[in-house]
Amino acid sequence: MKYINKKLTIEKVRIQDIAKKFGSPTYCYSYLQLKKNINNFKKNFKSFSPLICFAIKSNTNINLIREIKKFGLGADVVSMGELMMAVKAGISPKKIVFSGVGKTSDEISYAIEKKILLINAESESEIKEIDRIANFKKKKIQIGIRLNPNTDAKTLSQISTGKKENKFGVNERKFFELVDYCRNSKNIELKCLSVHIGSQILNYKPYEKMIKVVDRIINKINHKFEFIDLGGGMGISYEDNDKKLNYKKYSTIIKKFLKKHKSKIIFEPGRSIIGNAGILISKIIYIKENHKKNFVILDSAMNDLIRPALYGARHKTLPSTRRKKSSNQTYEVVGPICESTDKFITLKNFQELKEKDLIVMCDVGAYGMSLSSNYNIRLKPAEILIKGSKIKVIRKRQKYKDLM
Ligand SMILES: *Cc1c(COP(=O)(O)O)cnc(C)c1O
Repeated sequence: MKYINKKLTIEKVRIQDIAKKFGSPTYCYSYLQLKKNINNFKKNFKSFSPLICFAIKSNTNINLIREIKKFGLGADVVSMGELMMAVKAGISPKKIVFSGVGKTSDEISYAIEKKILLINAESESEIKEIDRIANFKKKKIQIGIRLNPNTDAKTLSQISTGKKENKFGVNERKFFELVDYCRNSKNIELKCLSVHIGSQILNYKPYEKMIKVVDRIINKINHKFEFIDLGGGMGISYEDNDKKLNYKKYSTIIKKFLKKHKSKIIFEPGRSIIGNAGILISKIIYIKENHKKNFVILDSAMNDLIRPALYGARHKTLPSTRRKKSSNQTYEVVGPICESTDKFITLKNFQELKEKDLIVMCDVGAYGMSLSSNYNIRLKPAEILIKGSKIKVIRKRQKYKDLM
């Protein structure tokens, strides 16, 4: 995105033209940025060509998943719906891994029927359930066990998943027990050790610690894991001064690990693939002053983008038309929902804003639309994909008749 003649432009299309044609709020994705992200990701790890399984939960739009599939990526799914969506988008089941602490019997059965690459199990009870269903179906099932490496990802506590107090995975002692269990089962083939310590990780050190734990544990058992699934979590720069994850260091650490333990690496990135490829276009409905504060009330709200309300996340916010004047005012950008957490950001020394102006929130491609809801019976936004000067509607705006 850049300003051309003071008009914010994504690839070759002006934001104002998108809003005029498709209304607002609207999610808008750049194909070019998506492609760049995927190619960079591949390049960073190309010496060991990992299987890259896109974390569907970060963005569930089937048209985007189809584009991602064309680059050869697989999928990491966490529910039956996501598994169906990945298959419908054309992703080969042989490139699909299934994570999650609460897979139901129906979900396990479905995954077995679809012959996916791996069910990454997260508890003894789940493994026993897989065993039972596999026995009933007379099938041999490939699974992974998710280890909780007790590693602090040094990210927001709400999106941290690798510490012993988190619900994810099993601890070391349990892991050893379950390896034994799998070896004694005729229905289960233990193929993978998986870990995922959290999201929006910008420092390679937690990954380094995580791999140390994995290394130590593999050294203690005599089991050949065909796959090591290192999860996702690679962070992106939400603010200009955010530091960047050092992929080179991470890659070097993995290469060292692979020298000792030959296996195929799996990654499950979501945010780093689609996060910075999406924006949310909103329109200012009203501006009002209350108690010396200027509230900028948008036509989008926490139901469209919940990250600020849920995690206190900040999204870089830009006007679609640049004006010279700085307002010296503080704007509190909010949505129309009756919750005080329905607030996006506070803007200081921002340019003067007017009612009907368009506002763009950046880096909302991941956990934006996929976390949206119909709270307050508000319609879900449209989604649009930009490719150069081409515009494609990849999801229509919801209609009231869809909800009544
Ligand atoms: C959410 C999740 C991911 C994706 O995380 P990102 O931070 O979007 O890369 C990967 N694996 C598992 C198991 C997850 O729960």
